[in-house]
Amino acid sequence: MPHGSSFLRRYAAATLDLFVPRLCPCCNRTLSAGETLLCARCLLLLPYTHISDVYDNVVARLFWGRLPVEAAYSHVYYSRESLSFPLLMKLKYGHLCHIGEVMGEAMAVQLLSKGFFQGVDGVVPTPLHWRRWWQRGYNQSAMLARGVSRVTGIPMMSGLVRRHRFTGTQTHRDSADRQKNVEAAFRSRKTEAKHLLLVDDVLTTGSTLLSLATAILKENPDVRFSILTLAVARTSLPY
Ligand SMILES: [Zn+2]
Repeated sequence: MPHGSSFLRRYAAATLDLFVPRLCPCCNRTLSAGETLLCARCLLLLPYTHISDVYDNVVARLFWGRLPVEAAYSHVYYSRESLSFPLLMKLKYGHLCHIGEVMGEAMAVQLLSKGFFQGVDGVVPTPLHWRRWWQRGYNQSAMLARGVSRVTGIPMMSGLVRRHRFTGTQTHRDSADRQKNVEAAFRSRKTEAKHLLLVDDVLTTGSTLLSLATAILKENPDVRFSILTLAVARTSLPY
């Protein structure tokens, strides 16, 4: 016999699915009642980074010598051909903001046992410019951060940094161009926090996170960072 409340929940979800079928954002197949965000096949086949050492890995090394970084983690690799591409596109442009919260929670659950959140005082999502936020209706990084915050209990610090310059799309810019484009795009307030977790959806050249961290350091020179992104572009890694 299934447990009462979980049976009822599954029954309600299955009934709702009859009217509004939920689709897997990666392959567009209809999800079954037991599948929460991705279908079982895509959940298995996503190109995971399999980062096990959160202190020394390809993502952390991108920031060594540039930022005081404690730990870093990206969940999946990202390229135009990969299964993570439609997931990221739907999170960013498809009005499917719940993808962010669910993936944020999933990453946090996985990282808790690795000590990734030890000593972290606040979660800082990469802010959007208000004009972009107005267009999109939500900040995809804040959705990821909210999922992380819910699992870990670490407070969100969304108001710490503001994006005061509209940088336009980064998609078609090369590395030097991106850095120049996001330089001084952020402005931070002072904080008592000493260890901040910066959260972004995709890590490409690292220029956005560098610019964000630099703005925070300008007002708070003693702050250390950890970095968490849903995806990392294969092209940005040093191999
Ligand atoms: Zn799927």
